[in-house]
Amino acid sequence: MYRPLSRVLGLALLTSCVVSCSKNEVAPTVAPTAAPRTADATATRDSHLALGNPSGATTNSANYWNYLVSKPQYAMSYHRDRGTPNWVSWHLSSAWLGSTPRQDNFAPDNSLPTGWYRVSSTSYTGSGFDRGHQCPSADRTGSVADNSATFLMSNMIPQAPNNNQRTWASLENYCRTLVDAGNELYIICGSYGKGGTGSNGYATTLDAGRVTVPARVWKVIVVLPNGSGDATRVTTGTRVIAINTPNDNSLSTTWGSYRTTVDAIESATGYDLLSAVSASVQSVVEARVDSGPTS
Ligand code: MN
Ligand code: MN
Repeated sequence: MYRPLSRVLGLALLTSCVVSCSKNEVAPTVAPTAAPRTADATATRDSHLALGNPSGATTNSANYWNYLVSKPQYAMSYHRDRGTPNWVSWHLSSAWLGSTPRQDNFAPDNSLPTGWYRVSSTSYTGSGFDRGHQCPSADRTGSVADNSATFLMSNMIPQAPNNNQRTWASLENYCRTLVDAGNELYIICGSYGKGGTGSNGYATTLDAGRVTVPARVWKVIVVLPNGSGDATRVTTGTRVIAINTPNDNSLSTTWGSYRTTVDAIESATGYDLLSAVSASVQSVVEARVDSGPTS
C-alpha cells in the first residue's frame, strides 16, 4: 500500500497548504519539516513520443510492418504480419497512477486498419506463452479507460511466463519505485527475432501462424526528475537503463543481469532510439551500461 499512502500524504500536504495559505492567514515563515511530495505536485502526462519515434512509424497502412498506433495511453509501431507491436513507447509519471483495479478485459484492437487480422483474447490460449503486456496494466491505473487500453491485444507479445511474471515484472515494479521517488520515465520496449521457449517448449508462431513468437524482448528506460521540456533535459548524466532478454522460460529472474547498451539494441533492431535527444548526448548515454540499483 506504499503508493496509496504516499498519495494520501501528498494530498494532506496540499490540503494543509490550502488551509494555511488562505486569505487572512499569515504566511508561514518556516518551511514544513517534511518535504512536499514533488512527485505528485509537479507530475504531468507527457507525449509518449517526446524522445522520438524509433522506427519512423506512420499511420500509412501500406507500411504494414511499421504502422503507427497512437493512443492517449501509449504509442506503438505495429507489425500486421507478426501480430505484435515492434515497439511500444509510453510516458510514466505519478500523473498516470491512480487506484483503478486491473481490468483483465483482453480484447482485439479494433483501431487497426480494416481487413487486418485482429489478434484476439484467445489467440494465445494453450500456447505456453503469456499475453505479455508491453505497456503494463499497473502503469495505467488512472481510469478504467486507461487500464483497459493496456489489455488490447495490440499491446501484447507472446512472452515466456517466467520472463513476463518474474524478470519483466520486477523491472516494471522498480520503474514505479522510481516514479514514487519523484521521477518521470520514458519507457520504450519491443521485441524482435522469431522463436521462443515457453512453458510448453519452443515455438515460432501461435494462432495458426498469425502471431510470431519473438526471440528477444528489450526495454529502454530514461529517468528524469519531474519537470518539463523533457527531451532537452536529458544530459550525459541522465540514467538510462537498457535490457535485452531471451524469450525463454529458463532465463534469470534478475533483470539487472540483462543490462546492455541502447547502442546494442539499435544495432539489433535498426531503430534510432531517443532520436529527439541531441546527438552528442545520445552518443554518451546510449553507449553506457547502467550500473545503478535494481530494486
Ligand atoms: Mn515531463
Ligand atoms: Mn539513438
